[in-house]
Amino acid sequence: MDIDILVIGQGIAGSFLSYYLQRSGRSLVIVDESKLNTASKAAAGIINPVTGRRIVKTWMIDELLEFAKIAYSEIGKELHIQCISEHKIIDFFPSPQMRNAFTDRFNEDKGYVKLAEIENEWREAFTYDFGFGEIEPVYLIELSALLAAFRTKMISANCLLDEKLDFQELVIGEDKIRYKDIRADKIIFCDGTGSLDNPYFRNLPFAANKGEALVVELERSPGGDIYKKGINLVPWKEDLFWVGSSYEWGFSDDQPSEAFRLQTESILRQWLKIPFKVVGHLASIRPATLERRPFVGFHPINRNIGILNGMGTKGCSLAPYFAKQLVESINFPSILLPEVDIQRFNRILTRQ
Ligand SMILES: Cc1cc2nc3c(=O)[nH]c(=O)nc-3n(C[C@H](O)[C@H](O)[C@H](O)COP(=O)(O)OP(=O)(O)OC[C@H]3O[C@@H](n4cnc5c(N)ncnc54)[C@H](O)[C@@H]3O)c2cc1C
Repeated sequence: MDIDILVIGQGIAGSFLSYYLQRSGRSLVIVDESKLNTASKAAAGIINPVTGRRIVKTWMIDELLEFAKIAYSEIGKELHIQCISEHKIIDFFPSPQMRNAFTDRFNEDKGYVKLAEIENEWREAFTYDFGFGEIEPVYLIELSALLAAFRTKMISANCLLDEKLDFQELVIGEDKIRYKDIRADKIIFCDGTGSLDNPYFRNLPFAANKGEALVVELERSPGGDIYKKGINLVPWKEDLFWVGSSYEWGFSDDQPSEAFRLQTESILRQWLKIPFKVVGHLASIRPATLERRPFVGFHPINRNIGILNGMGTKGCSLAPYFAKQLVESINFPSILLPEVDIQRFNRILTRQ
């Protein structure tokens, strides 16, 4: 079979890359090993415009938000699903210092933040001592629905191989890539933490970190917002809530841990007044990078090998935007933003 592009991985990065490749008229096959605990399947799906103790705007957020709204609406329309919704974060301050930081930020710049108008608004559902602020707009992406619908579409078009890529079967020629009976012009890796074992890209400065979350059933819903006090309580599929997450740098496996479950249950019991039952526990490794910027572009030794990876904690906003940019860069290489282009690691990537 002759195709234009072989895509490895169908997380949020591989799905959007394939979507934009098809929209640009290119033929493709995706090779994806269907694993239950990939980063995209564990994620809450939040696009939060601010971050950190000083509530600063996240990198490129104005542009990324506008892009995400359109991208998720368009892909949803094509897949006949609704996968993006607008919310706000009710940010309960865990300390007077955090309340002061939020107020300072509000006084300096009102973009995306608001101070609470009715201080007691959430007393029935939550325990809080230092008030709360609001962050909006925040978007919530239904990743599981999107990934499943996109996979079904690819399988019915005979465009998806459900298997782990066998590197022994991959032959990278001067101008063609061969994998089993497939001949492609290019191969693009969207393999998340799979890249840590990928012979072409494993030397890139990844800084993988583990995240866990609980899935809980609440006796009644506090509302349709996202609630935060150290951890996030997020509306999840089938009327459930997602509670997380952890950021662990030193980890020995990618499995749910009892320590996280016990600690999170205890935090939730102190904060939430509504009875809850834990019905699920998720864990995965985030494909984060040392300098917190994605890895996008083509290999300096063989321009037919590409990558879209390193989405870290922000795959929902970064993946669609840079998937489109990578597709456009096939014809116009200079379009790639220098901060994400893997050319910045040419020396590492050309080292034998
Ligand atoms: C607990 C948790 C919460 C998070 N919450 C959020 C959030 O709210 N908002 C947000 O924006 N981000 C969040 N993230 C981060 C987000 O999940 C990631 O940035 C994003 O999912 C990365 O997507 P990806 O497609 O690059 O990788 P992945 O989702 O890991 O997809 C990679 C795919 O490639 C496949 N694969 C790998 N190697 C091979 C191979 N050799 N052969 C075949 N297939 C292969 C895998 O099976 C997988 O399907 C969270 C992450 C975690 C762990």
